[in-house]
Amino acid sequence: MKAANTFALAKPKSGIAVPANDAIPTDLLIGDTWVQGAGERIPVHNPANGEVITTISNASVEDGMAAIAAAEKAAPGWAATPARQRAEILRKCYDKMIANADWLAHLISLEMGKALPDSKGEVLYAAEFFRWYSEETARIRGEMQDSPNGTNKILVQYQPIGISLLITPWNFPAAMATRKIAPALGAGCTVILKPAIETPLTALAVAQIMLEAGVPPGVINVITPKDPGPVCAAIMHDPRVRKMSFTGSTAVGKKLLATASDTVLNCSMELGGNAPFIVFDDANVDDAVDGAMIAKMRNGGQACTATNRFYIQKGVLGEFTEKLTRKMGAMKLGDGTDPDTALGPVITEKQANKIAGLVEGAIAEGAKVALGGSRPNVPGYFYPATVLTDVPADATILKDEIFGPVAAIVAFDSEEEVIRLSNNTEYGLAAYLYTKDIKKGLNIAQKLEYGMIGVNRGLVSDTAAPFGGVKQSGLGREGSHHGLIEFTECRYVAVTW
Ligand code: NAD
Repeated sequence: MKAANTFALAKPKSGIAVPANDAIPTDLLIGDTWVQGAGERIPVHNPANGEVITTISNASVEDGMAAIAAAEKAAPGWAATPARQRAEILRKCYDKMIANADWLAHLISLEMGKALPDSKGEVLYAAEFFRWYSEETARIRGEMQDSPNGTNKILVQYQPIGISLLITPWNFPAAMATRKIAPALGAGCTVILKPAIETPLTALAVAQIMLEAGVPPGVINVITPKDPGPVCAAIMHDPRVRKMSFTGSTAVGKKLLATASDTVLNCSMELGGNAPFIVFDDANVDDAVDGAMIAKMRNGGQACTATNRFYIQKGVLGEFTEKLTRKMGAMKLGDGTDPDTALGPVITEKQANKIAGLVEGAIAEGAKVALGGSRPNVPGYFYPATVLTDVPADATILKDEIFGPVAAIVAFDSEEEVIRLSNNTEYGLAAYLYTKDIKKGLNIAQKLEYGMIGVNRGLVSDTAAPFGGVKQSGLGREGSHHGLIEFTECRYVAVTW
């Protein structure tokens, strides 16, 4: 099926191989057709220079309704497709994504800005959701038990929940999409994907790969409205839609939960974070610095799991700060598609200015600058690697998601103090701690109010693990078997036989 409008990568500087048919559709995917939305097309920008890369179709409420109709038409056939066959199609999606990994990584760097190694890492992680769920799909178990009063049997089945709206952010444009699509399709649901308007090309490329891998038309639909509010609200209010899975900010998540309450729509919410990174005096400081580089600098700090607050015990404060500053200072800032770049631009001018404002605020509140601290005078949305020391424990920068390459370091004395400081937030997504005393580490992990805790590790994301937060960081889990169950309805049948 051909798209009227497409975008092709122009000779990447990295010299990666571009497939002969690399034309990425830039229209809406509705059923078996790439549809041109009505009205003005939406520009997609390269954050490294602010230039327009291409334009994409704008989806209307009517396009949203057409996507529901396409998902509805495909739903019975997909739900009835044997799990083994669905699994094999997902596995083909994995194979195709891996075969196109370099090309997709380049596309991510181009529209989202992150450095190529980060983009390559994302593509592998994103593809892994197809592989993981190709395995899980064949293992959706039910339950059967005798009723305790002896009168009957209790049968429990996990059935596809139905048409699902998937709303994803720009910071991991491939992985946040596949982390939802793969379990939804595995469970037997048909979906409508609404990617972030900043990074739609990756989502459209993934959808095209899925069609080529044999996903039937209508099982995946992609819409890109310029103003997502009315289109998503109309979809969520439609009784044919049974699920909304969202990854993004807590502020938008709250609005969507309010919309979902109108129809009591089932929701999974992966929201913002404010991760503490705790280093105790008895930690291996070099390991802690390596972990900090991942927890802080992966994706240029633009991750929901990114460390927002470094709490360093006073005995290792000097050594940790000095080593982290040296490593962060060695990262080359530049265009993410340039193979020499270690730190790309942030997503938008607005975001670069927000980071600058937070840093200036912290300095006004008493923080000192050990590295970076101001925007370079170059085109593009750049913010340099920055280390702030002596940050007061109540500074504003420690309360807001920085979402950029800024390490704010706070000194602490005691375990009780650092647990209190770490939990003093409405968020509860990821936390990290370093100590050589594993018993102490595990005991403290029990006291941290977070959904995911890295003990002597700066990375918690894993397709096989339940990813999600507590408090205002979200509802439900993605990844692992839990992620698939989120796209099922638990049906119980009482039987006398
Ligand atoms: P965002 O909330 O601004 O947007 C997320 C998505 O929601 C985008 O597709 C956007 O177009 C859409 N959206 C915005 N307003 C909407 C509305 N009124 N109705 C329907 N859809 C709407 O977030 P972002 O800036 O794209 O992403 C960054 C945020 O995402 C950060 O807060 C980060 O912590 C969070 N995040 C969380 C996770 C997680 O797994 N918990 C993962 C990645 C990012």
